[in-house]
Amino acid sequence: MAKGRRFLIAGNWKMNGLKKDGCALAKSVAKSLKKAKGKKQPFDRLVCPPYTLLSRVADAIKGSGVKLGAQDCHVAEKGAHTGDISPHMLKDVGCKFVIVGHSERRTDHREVDAKAKAKAEAVIEAGMIAIVCIGETLAQREAGRFISVNQRQLKGSLPAAATAKNTVVAYEPVWAIGTGLTASPEQAQEVHAVIRAELVKSLGEEEGNGIRILYGGSMNPKNAKELLAQPDIDGGLIGGAALNADDFRAVAAGCK
Ligand code: PEP
Repeated sequence: MAKGRRFLIAGNWKMNGLKKDGCALAKSVAKSLKKAKGKKQPFDRLVCPPYTLLSRVADAIKGSGVKLGAQDCHVAEKGAHTGDISPHMLKDVGCKFVIVGHSERRTDHREVDAKAKAKAEAVIEAGMIAIVCIGETLAQREAGRFISVNQRQLKGSLPAAATAKNTVVAYEPVWAIGTGLTASPEQAQEVHAVIRAELVKSLGEEEGNGIRILYGGSMNPKNAKELLAQPDIDGGLIGGAALNADDFRAVAAGCK
């Protein structure tokens, strides 16, 4: 990771957790990743529980330095959108980050780049940080189209007012999410470098080099250190391993 960027270790709990186990997990994460007083830690930490647990998790992590995020949002501030949650509601409950354009949203809800972009812009407008997810499928990788697919998705999903302060990009190869297959550090770095170049091209040196690019896709205590050692990998978006506080802490320990 380059100078000037801080690692971000983000847990995406997806549709997991009831009151009891969700609160217990949040408390364990808060305890094991609590910021030591007066000690500088080289990474930011974030948990993104399901909507139903946001308020409880906000209480459980209070004072620990662990931040709260959501997994999706609507683009509007309020109104007749049954079943949806607005960025303002998420901010109100204590969220600092919102994930947009996750491949599971793209698949399950047919979300396209333009939708991810509109959501990211709504998140920023509400005063939070958007985590914009992109990534190729296995078929696209095997067809040798993974570079152009990621370039296209980034171009289509990146918010217009993206800066290093309000936007994080997550490269999540779809074939590696929840499958146990991980991109090798070299495979991941290759795409991260392309994303970095695109960010610099469209936002300029300062913002393009300042935006954090997370890797996501079966990141775990065994592979985290090597992935996080790559020059353009600035942290992880972690699914399965974020559901266990010890594993989540062990992944974070890879930030050196
Ligand atoms: C994710 O959902 O963003 C993810 C990377 O999941 P997993 O770590 O389980 O592959």
